[in-house]
Amino acid sequence: MKHSLLIGLSFLFLAFSCTESDTTYINTVTGPISLDSMGLTLVHEHVLVDFIGADSVSPDRYNQEEVIAKVMPYLLEVKKYGVRTIFECTPSFLAKDPVLLKKLSEQSGIQFITNTGLYGTQNGKFLPEYAFTETAEQLAKRWIEDFRNGIEGTGIKPGFIKISVNEDDPLGEMDAKLVRAAGLTYKQTGLKIYSHTGTWNTAKQEVEILQQMGVDPSAFVWVHAQAEQDFQNYEKAAELGVWISLDGIGWSLEEYVERLFFAKENGFLANVLISHDAGWYDPAKPDGGDFVPFTNIFEKLMPALNAKGFQEADWKMLLVENPKRAFRKE
Ligand SMILES: [Zn+2]
Repeated sequence: MKHSLLIGLSFLFLAFSCTESDTTYINTVTGPISLDSMGLTLVHEHVLVDFIGADSVSPDRYNQEEVIAKVMPYLLEVKKYGVRTIFECTPSFLAKDPVLLKKLSEQSGIQFITNTGLYGTQNGKFLPEYAFTETAEQLAKRWIEDFRNGIEGTGIKPGFIKISVNEDDPLGEMDAKLVRAAGLTYKQTGLKIYSHTGTWNTAKQEVEILQQMGVDPSAFVWVHAQAEQDFQNYEKAAELGVWISLDGIGWSLEEYVERLFFAKENGFLANVLISHDAGWYDPAKPDGGDFVPFTNIFEKLMPALNAKGFQEADWKMLLVENPKRAFRKE
């Protein structure tokens, strides 16, 4: 009797601790976890991406078991470096597959976090028909529904919003709509906003839209910020509280060494997120094509920056503390 009461109480506590107003959890593909248990986190990677376009993308274009066989060794490899959590950034209509991620999570022990949102770049190639006719409010309603009840009937809930915009000045109408939809979703769910962007000239327009909606810039992750050439703009972004995502480390090294060294020297490393943007199984290529591993941070970036004075505390900030702070709900 006592025992069942205890079990009952712990269920109650679990249910209570997972309500929308809770500030300490994030949805993984296998359920909510506390931010503290994210541990060492890669904030931007991919296990599967299909660039065929929204009109043709389909789970029928790949075999889940073949994808798992291909991806698993790379997950086990990165686990040896202590990685516990991966944000899988493949957007909707580019073959985002929460069920595949759940299987990979169960088999590898890596905690995967998936997303809701829409990818606006490349003239709408990756947008479904409804994106062209619906308002920001209608799009946000879909994304909030994903958060509340799970993505497409899977019951798997997103841990962040992923959108993308074209590099236009002024920002295009569709792109501005996606940013507004993301802001509306954030206000209802607390899900932080990743936007595939590039330069600060574009990112700052997104931040302005969000600010006009009353959304703090700290809800915004400036994805692919490594494209920015004027380092002073990183300082401007950091002053606003924007998260600066230097996330292509799977593909090159020197530009990241320069930017991270600058961030440390100028005191804004606490606003920086790092990842590889690596992977992925590509259904258009035989056997999924060449897979880029998730290891450059550990094998190349760390030695290069340690030689320039980076210490254990800096890596803990970049890979453990910053992800945790970025995803804390306000
Ligand atoms: Zn990416």
